[in-house]
Amino acid sequence: MKVLLRGAVWFGFYLVMILLPLLVGSVFRPAGASDSFLVNLSAGLGYVGFAIMALELALISRFKPAASAFGLDVLQQFHKEIGMAAFLMVLAHPLLLVVSGYPWRILLPVSGVPWSVVLGTVAFLLVALLIGLSVWRKKLKIPYEVWQITHGLLTIALIAAAAIHIIGVGRYAQMTPMKILWAAYLLLLIGLFSYYRLFKPLRLLGKPWKVVENRAELGDARTLRLQPVGHKGWPGGFEAGQFAWINLGSSPFNFEQHPISMSSSGDTAAATGEVAFTIKNLGGWSGKTVPGIKAGQRVWLDGPYGVFTLDREQGPGYVLLAGGVGVTPLRSMLLTMIEREDVRPVVLFYGARHEDDLTFRDELLELQKPMNLKVVYVVEEPSPAWQGETGRISADILRKHLPPKQYKRWTYFICGPTPMMNAMEKILPEIGVPAEKVNTERFDMV
Ligand SMILES: Cc1cc2nc3c(=O)[nH]c(=O)nc-3n(C[C@H](O)[C@H](O)[C@H](O)COP(=O)(O)OP(=O)(O)OC[C@H]3O[C@@H](n4cnc5c(N)ncnc54)[C@H](O)[C@@H]3O)c2cc1C
Repeated sequence: MKVLLRGAVWFGFYLVMILLPLLVGSVFRPAGASDSFLVNLSAGLGYVGFAIMALELALISRFKPAASAFGLDVLQQFHKEIGMAAFLMVLAHPLLLVVSGYPWRILLPVSGVPWSVVLGTVAFLLVALLIGLSVWRKKLKIPYEVWQITHGLLTIALIAAAAIHIIGVGRYAQMTPMKILWAAYLLLLIGLFSYYRLFKPLRLLGKPWKVVENRAELGDARTLRLQPVGHKGWPGGFEAGQFAWINLGSSPFNFEQHPISMSSSGDTAAATGEVAFTIKNLGGWSGKTVPGIKAGQRVWLDGPYGVFTLDREQGPGYVLLAGGVGVTPLRSMLLTMIEREDVRPVVLFYGARHEDDLTFRDELLELQKPMNLKVVYVVEEPSPAWQGETGRISADILRKHLPPKQYKRWTYFICGPTPMMNAMEKILPEIGVPAEKVNTERFDMV
């Protein structure tokens, strides 16, 4: 309930922030403002679209009180979808003006069109480019880090162009209350940027971690065990299932950071400070930098984050559905349950292409001894010696291994590649699992 309330308060605050320009514009109408409904609608959409874009950073700035109410993945998804909505608003803004009788030339950067209007077109083109690069990043094969920097620079450029356009063109922007509002937005933006890029790294600077082991795992993965240096680690550990941003650079100001789930027990972190991450070789950073990390190296952690956790989602029993390296947060849940002597039943279904891709394969089987756990491996292309389930995790396999009278009341955690997660989200309702019992963590949230 507390989390719900916190979420409602933050969402209410966000709504007020993006709708304030409309309120200020209608309460303090400037002299000579148009009476045309379309012109006013156009201005309103332009203002709200701009406010949404100016606040986009707030959604992904890892501000803990807000992040803990929704979960970073939800905020990330909202950042994407509300960004699209803002794009449609700023697209409708000039089109409505043309429909209401303004010359169509205002849409083009041609001679005779004031520079302040042209800047509006420039801002719109920048938004279109920014969204296009985000939507087609993988298809265009743009490396994540290059995209991240470009995304930031384009955002700054478009906000600047749109702000100058608003000040240069708008009657509303000339009013003192609107100027005060824009100044407040600017301060908020500067504050958020300083928090994200300055304050947070500065705080982390005094809390380094060191690698105590870098171990190879099945499934082309590596486990990094870390211990805090000169501090006690995260107070209270973390909730099993959460993740942190790992920065393997020489300081917390380093730009490259990766979100990785903790694969160790959350309660061990509370007792000893130690945390572990298991990282699959997916490309540049995970394939080249991570394997080269030596014991003793300093690293930086920003976390813990996430709402995909055992502690938040209680149930009389658990079904864990893993695909590939998606097993990491689920392993953390199992280890934490063992530490708590939690005897609730758990069934783990773990799908992989080959049996040698099953990270922690032998260890997970061993965990069946100290806890009430059943492990079901499902292998797509098994070797002739394989005796377990084959193919992909299906409704039949789930029904075969779950207790028929219990499973609809249990809590589900799914983590794996997108096609597997989509398949599970379709299969679970088919076998009668209520949607509110299902929790997901998507590793490809960005
Ligand atoms: C909440 C969460 C938990 C995760 N937990 C794990 C885990 O336990 N183990 C694991 O192996 N992977 C995990 N991932 C995925 C991991 O963050 C990326 O796959 C990893 O950063 C890939 O890095 P790369 O540069 O080697 O791969 P690349 O091939 O260069 O990138 C592959 C894809 O990974 C994503 N990615 C790359 N860099 C970043 C970055 N800095 N920030 C965000 N996404 C990025 C992009 O979508 C990119 O297209 C998790 C992701 C999320 C969101």
